[in-house]
Amino acid sequence: MALGKRKKGQLLTVLLSFLIVIVLTVLIVGMCVLVYTISFVNGDVAIDLDAYKNSQDQTSIIYALKDPNDYSTAYEIARLHGEENRIWIDLSEIPEDVQNAFVCLEDKRFYKHSGVDWVRTIKAALTLGKAGGGSTMTQQLIKNLTDENQATVARKFNEILYALNLEKNFDKSEILEAYLNTIPLGSGCYGVQTAAQKYFGKDITQVNAAEAAVLASITKAPTKYNPLLNPDNNKLRQEHCLKMMHDQHKLSKGEYNDALNYELIFTNSDKYVPSEKVAKTVKQDTKINSYYVDYVIDSVMDDLKSEYGYTQGEAYRMVYYGGLKIYSAIDEKVQDAAEDIYVNRVGFPEEADRTEDGSNGTKKKVQSGITIMNYEGRVVAMVGGAGKKTINRGLNRATDAIRSPGSSIKPLAVYGPAIDTNVATYSTRIPDFGIIVNGERWPRNYSGSTGSPDSYVYLQAAVSRSLNTTSAQTLKRLGLDKSFEYVTRRFHLTTLVEDGDDTDKNFSSLAVGGMTHGVTTLEMCAAYCTFGNGGKYYKPYCYYKVTDYAGKNTYLESSTTPEQAIGEDTATIMNRILQTVCYNAGGTGYGKQVKNFTTFMKTGTTSDTKDKWACGGTPYYCAAVWYGYDKQEEIKVYNGENPAAKEWSLVMNKVHEGLEAKDFTYSDKVVQRSYCAGSGLVSGSGCPAGGSGWYKTSYTPYCDGSGHDTVNTEE
Ligand SMILES: [Zn+2]
Repeated sequence: MALGKRKKGQLLTVLLSFLIVIVLTVLIVGMCVLVYTISFVNGDVAIDLDAYKNSQDQTSIIYALKDPNDYSTAYEIARLHGEENRIWIDLSEIPEDVQNAFVCLEDKRFYKHSGVDWVRTIKAALTLGKAGGGSTMTQQLIKNLTDENQATVARKFNEILYALNLEKNFDKSEILEAYLNTIPLGSGCYGVQTAAQKYFGKDITQVNAAEAAVLASITKAPTKYNPLLNPDNNKLRQEHCLKMMHDQHKLSKGEYNDALNYELIFTNSDKYVPSEKVAKTVKQDTKINSYYVDYVIDSVMDDLKSEYGYTQGEAYRMVYYGGLKIYSAIDEKVQDAAEDIYVNRVGFPEEADRTEDGSNGTKKKVQSGITIMNYEGRVVAMVGGAGKKTINRGLNRATDAIRSPGSSIKPLAVYGPAIDTNVATYSTRIPDFGIIVNGERWPRNYSGSTGSPDSYVYLQAAVSRSLNTTSAQTLKRLGLDKSFEYVTRRFHLTTLVEDGDDTDKNFSSLAVGGMTHGVTTLEMCAAYCTFGNGGKYYKPYCYYKVTDYAGKNTYLESSTTPEQAIGEDTATIMNRILQTVCYNAGGTGYGKQVKNFTTFMKTGTTSDTKDKWACGGTPYYCAAVWYGYDKQEEIKVYNGENPAAKEWSLVMNKVHEGLEAKDFTYSDKVVQRSYCAGSGLVSGSGCPAGGSGWYKTSYTPYCDGSGHDTVNTEE
């Protein structure tokens, strides 16, 4: 018993000491945190709102280079932001209704708390956020300025410290002003001014209580409550916001009722009439930039995001207000030539002007996009639409329209890979006969026929005439996996669907280019460059470098390191085959070559004729064109020729005016040989002459005469 008592006593002592250690540790850690907190909160300014505000007005400039190798030849082509379209609005210019709407809805104790609303924070912590985020507007401002969005305890703690520090150093009006100028409000808007213009076509000074509540309502979830996208969601929350304003005595009963009944007119409503003032501002201050400049802006934002982990908001602010110098890779001579054709709709049919439905007279016009590159990755020109460009950073069909490539996929997915892997040669005899897919003979040729089992075509002629049967046959020999690897990993088409039920790894996508989504002219152009430069894939770039205003720090720089996508010999053979598309009668691009310059090309038409393509190059440039309607429908009016090839030819002929003679550099690992009419192999002795083709020195399969008995019915 005594022993037991002593043991109990010992146990108690151990437990007590343990408890004391824990209590002491907690106290010490607590003290440290407290000291750190106090010193941080009372210490130096952690976020300087004044510096931030000033940095909002730095103009970024986009340049072009007269000589790509000499930055001193840079000249200005576009100016982003600038004083005249400044969007930072002083609080005194922001209507009280707007200020009240945000405060009443988001943070009703804003004028009382010191940065953190402890009641809400504890409530949020206890309910794991179910009772609302618990963030004050000060904390939201910190979040918007630092872009730290992970919901971790450490992040939350830091946010609280920053908020307390901010409140020590700035008064409520400065904090509210910064908040209202930086809050994300959907559709790429930051701040109430851009949002008022976006949603109401108004200056923020003209916004009333009902509209102010619309803007404040977006804050909670900018997409869910976007008034253009989800007007019903927004309306419910707007009414709630107005009630909060009324409850908090910011709206009288009469004002509240007026606001509730006020008919909201958004910029996408039928009743919307652009206000004179805003229309005038837009006219005076907004220069419409080229599609190329749009593309540069998007690329720089994307690259800032991937290089530095910036959010869209941060990247946007940096590009528009960060005083950047962006040295674009545009070649204005080429750009001007392309724009001349596209802006004036040269070569586009009259049909395009008919009205979609007779009543409201909306014009429906066939559209197009083109990307032009040199052979080392430089995008020299880009036009993303036909007709006069009316807005900045709207739909750029050269980069954004993802459309099925039709037969223009064949050199990338079928014939190029087949020659690269020695599955086929220039003159391989391919059955002009569909394969069995899902129990049926497939596909049909343009003529409507699935071919016949005893009909054969040489590969070169199959490409030139764009037969679908032979493409399916060749793909079957190559294999879907190999084909898909070439298209996605070597030619870097990134818009194909890799996995799942919609995958593009199937015969329809790879043999005839009927894809789940499709491809862009930019990526098709970069891929086709390999046929003109010895098989090297260069990632396309549209700027050389991006620096700060003083030119001291370089934020981004484009690299031009190529990958060998296909063999140098394959590239030359493909180039020779694709030349016959333009130069041989029966070629689908016959007569579309650039005058005085060797031209290779492949056309494309989807099976439903909703998309037309032309991709090809000369010794100087490679270009890809898409042509069709924005809202997919059949292209009916064209004069028997592929309209994409027509635009390709019009633009490229203009681009090449006055250029010096130049030819492709062909691989010395390729030889010209005659091939056997019977077997399609390189002629041996006694072979009937088939024609002349191009072959790898490393793979030149000769005919031994054993295949002569098969009848060759096609050339
Ligand atoms: Zn032979």
